[in-house]
Amino acid sequence: RALQDEQRKVVEKMKKIPYKIAILSSKGGVGKSFVTSNLAIALSSLGKNVAVLDADFHGPSIPKMLGIELSKGLLARDDGSIIPAVSRHGVKVVSVGLMLPTEDTPVIWRGSIKTTAIRQLLAYTDWEGIEYLLIDLPPGTGDEQLTIAQIIPNLTGFLMVTIPSEISKYVVKKAANFAQKINVPILGIIENMSYFKCDDGKIYYIFGKGAAEEISKEYNITFLGKIPIDPKIRESNDNGIAFFIDYPELEASKIFMDISKKF
Ligand code: ADP
Repeated sequence: RALQDEQRKVVEKMKKIPYKIAILSSKGGVGKSFVTSNLAIALSSLGKNVAVLDADFHGPSIPKMLGIELSKGLLARDDGSIIPAVSRHGVKVVSVGLMLPTEDTPVIWRGSIKTTAIRQLLAYTDWEGIEYLLIDLPPGTGDEQLTIAQIIPNLTGFLMVTIPSEISKYVVKKAANFAQKINVPILGIIENMSYFKCDDGKIYYIFGKGAAEEISKEYNITFLGKIPIDPKIRESNDNGIAFFIDYPELEASKIFMDISKKF
């Protein structure tokens, strides 16, 4: 009964949010959180009211990347609803990372608990006025992640983040098949860590070349762009400043701006 109540609340709240985008990645560490946080800032810079639900329980990095101190935690209203934290870019964030007693506390949850946690965060957060909800899902496209995506009604679509390795082919195929099954569009695929350009201009394809682009053609999924490996990206992420704000002139920032205008 509690479960039905929660699901009803989720449906009610999600109905009011025009765009709900779940971000999936092929594996951990491919840059899903980086893409999510920069896309959130890009949308926010266009004057949109944006929230991120950081559902990557094992590596909740959205608060850090958006410069929100974990010790601030999350506040609740008298009626028990959760108030999202707000980054200096105006992006609202709900993250398990903001609920842990210390930064290095591990989250040891099985799949079913994760699904419940996401349902409850969706049901009990105050999402009032949000136009774009970006949901940063745990890495991989296993059943668990996809079930999580399924509890969000009227999901606008999945956004895939991958690297140009052979494994991306398998992952995109799996996601494409699942999305079709539950009738949710794949909005596009972003290839991160596509290449590294040396100071002398020489380009190295460290993780391979072209796999994501190839598969996007085969499955008719929009290819949204290639982001190079760039130490500036890593630095910005670590410093919580956001690459998009630091280096608006770079190609990767333009990609985020272009994508945010598409949705
Ligand atoms: P995921 O969410 O997929 O686990 P993250 O977004 O946390 O991955 O990124 C993993 C690490 O790689 C982080 O330290 C991040 O700063 C770094 N990173 C992501 N994309 C790039 C890139 N294009 N160039 C350099 N470093 C990157």
